[in-house]
Amino acid sequence: MAATARYRSQSTRHRTTGNKRPTGPRRPAKVAILPAVTFTSPVPPLDLRSLFPGIEAFGRTATRLHPRAGTPGLSDSHVAGMLLWPADEPWPTCRGPHLVPTETSVPAEVAALLKTPRVEMTALLRERIPGFTGIRTTEAGTVLLGSEAVTEPIPSPLVPVAQLRAADIPDLHCPVGTDLLQVLWCPNRHHDSAGPPVQLRWRVSSTVVDPLPAPPPPTVVRAEQYLLRSCVLHPEQVTEYPWWQELPAELGRRVRDFDDNCQLGEHDYSSVSRARGWKVGGYATWALTDLLPMDCPGCHRSMDLLLTVDSSESEGSSAWLPVEDSHLRPSRTDPEWMAAYQPTGVSVGREGRLQVFVCMTCPDTPTRQIIQ
Ligand SMILES: [Zn+2]
Ligand SMILES: [Zn+2]
Repeated sequence: MAATARYRSQSTRHRTTGNKRPTGPRRPAKVAILPAVTFTSPVPPLDLRSLFPGIEAFGRTATRLHPRAGTPGLSDSHVAGMLLWPADEPWPTCRGPHLVPTETSVPAEVAALLKTPRVEMTALLRERIPGFTGIRTTEAGTVLLGSEAVTEPIPSPLVPVAQLRAADIPDLHCPVGTDLLQVLWCPNRHHDSAGPPVQLRWRVSSTVVDPLPAPPPPTVVRAEQYLLRSCVLHPEQVTEYPWWQELPAELGRRVRDFDDNCQLGEHDYSSVSRARGWKVGGYATWALTDLLPMDCPGCHRSMDLLLTVDSSESEGSSAWLPVEDSHLRPSRTDPEWMAAYQPTGVSVGREGRLQVFVCMTCPDTPTRQIIQ
């Protein structure tokens, strides 16, 4: 991995003393052996196999990516940065339509009616005014908040989200003959609530002999929460268990009852059974909608969870806080905590997670995505 290689190169760097030649008996230089950077998930605070006999049959691995700020190499697995991209291959672009926020001033006599709008009034506005999202009243007056769909005059380049090598990520299963997955998205709001639409590229990394040196910058960025910071990765394989509705009915009910009886602040099945943070593979979480079918638009079979892009790495809970970060206390003013908590700078939904599903059976590996 990039970080490992970087530390090794530091450990073998020789000290120099200008032009002075060393004097005295020659001794072997002391070489500091720095440990490779790893991040390790803690021992789960609940023993799920003891609590829910039979659940062991549903264990499935996921690879936590543990992104951390860094400067990745072109061929490394990483977040953001540059992708190993053939210089003669067109870079993908998007013209939208993108949702652009709008504000419409309300005449004073109407503003009085909207000062404390009844639920029915808000519903009526939502129904009658396309893109209506709310009302804002300040000393300057009252405005209706909304959005309109805009098609860009010039296509805007997508931005790199991640580059993942199968050799680094045990749970990344590339199509036969390829060894590299690249993920890109458009940093703007689109028509639906599934987050920025992703595009995938599967590659044979050895065939990229003349790579593009840098990504073309996007010409339109209206959703800065979709811009990412460059990170190196520290993959770790963990075992996960399914969302309760994906278990057999009786076992799922026991899990649900257990969570319903947990007190506020206690670890429950839902928070312990699936990793927080960026990950490849494993199980999806359905905290916003309950379980939804994610069937392939081509072959209509159930799709596999490919990648989870998460707004935080631990949700402030100790259940998935790496052992190496256990000395940190949640604080948005502590740079060290924020570097561990939100290393990529991305926020999807309301601090949620974007789950990208893929069909590896259909030749064009179609995707679907949802925010939870
Ligand atoms: Zn777009
Ligand atoms: Zn399919």
